[in-house]
Amino acid sequence: MKNIVILGSTGTIGQNTLEVIRKGRDRFNVIGLACRENKDLLARQIREFRPEYVYFEKVDTVFERRFPRVKILCGDKGLEKIASLKKADIIICAIPGISTLKAVCSAIRSKKVIGLATKEILVVAGHIINRLSRKYGACILPVDSEHNAVFQALEGIKKEDVKKIYLTASGGPFGGRPAGKNATLKDVLKHPVWKMGKKITVDSATMMNKAFEIIEAHYLFGLPAEKIGVLIHPEAFIHGMVELNDGTIKGVFSSPDMKFPINFVLDYPRRKETPWRPIDFSSMKKLTFSSADRNSAWFSLAAEAIEKNGSLPVVLNAANEEAVNLFLQGKIKFNGIIDIVQKAVRSHRIKKHVSLEDIFEIDRRAKNKVRELVRTKL
Ligand code: MG
Repeated sequence: MKNIVILGSTGTIGQNTLEVIRKGRDRFNVIGLACRENKDLLARQIREFRPEYVYFEKVDTVFERRFPRVKILCGDKGLEKIASLKKADIIICAIPGISTLKAVCSAIRSKKVIGLATKEILVVAGHIINRLSRKYGACILPVDSEHNAVFQALEGIKKEDVKKIYLTASGGPFGGRPAGKNATLKDVLKHPVWKMGKKITVDSATMMNKAFEIIEAHYLFGLPAEKIGVLIHPEAFIHGMVELNDGTIKGVFSSPDMKFPINFVLDYPRRKETPWRPIDFSSMKKLTFSSADRNSAWFSLAAEAIEKNGSLPVVLNAANEEAVNLFLQGKIKFNGIIDIVQKAVRSHRIKKHVSLEDIFEIDRRAKNKVRELVRTKL
């Protein structure tokens, strides 16, 4: 029986993880649930999965009294504690943003298997996470579907035999092309394939999600930006591929359903029977691919963040997060998101070495800078 902690149990990935657990009760046990604020759903999850520990951000004594048998944790320290529980085997990290950064570090130090869905952690602190993982021998398994596929394709392959990897992109509602100036919030949130939270759906439409995934792949697989290709593949049946020196390409197919990568992580390194339907090739009408534009702004931003490193990826992530927030609030246009991110990145003076504490400070300042840019309409 594997004991599992889910950071972000009420989000899309968290709910999918619980569905995988629901169908695998013979081998998975929920020991901890953490969420930021959706207490109604959290209460239902507690009743169904009976975790020993629960985390939420702020102290709530009324909620605590409803569940006297559950140990409730709050605040930053609480999050670090639930991510490193002695009895836990696997920590699924799926709270968007950088708020779980210290918790992930504490899971690494406690030698947990980490199912990482929060790509921001690797984007802003990839070097720190990699250094810690080597030191403690931690096992980080990507939940992000493209990286999960590449990870699977790389199994049994020597690193020096890899020529290139490919991440696929469904292209979001605009097929990976720049949208018209007047794209509305409704157009942007209409993702053709994946059902996800609002932030990542907007990131799919701007292709910034893929920019972050290039950076994520760089840290996970130790490859430079030029060895990470992106293919627009609207059917989203192939999630990632590895091209080997001899010209052979290995790809991983599955229906576009996050339960596949999540199940892979929870059962790793085994392959157990699951109820998720495999692709039926006979009913597949077509598989189409086109190259993503490597001259586009999002690609340049990713390549620059990898090359210059230091504080730059932190600013890229923070500026984008704030710009997406402002777009969701109707304060800027869709096309304004990338413009503002570029301005914030250009005006930033890179700090070469950043600590964990620096990251939070740089994040805060970059978000302020974005708000200032919008206020002054520069
Ligand atoms: Mg992805």
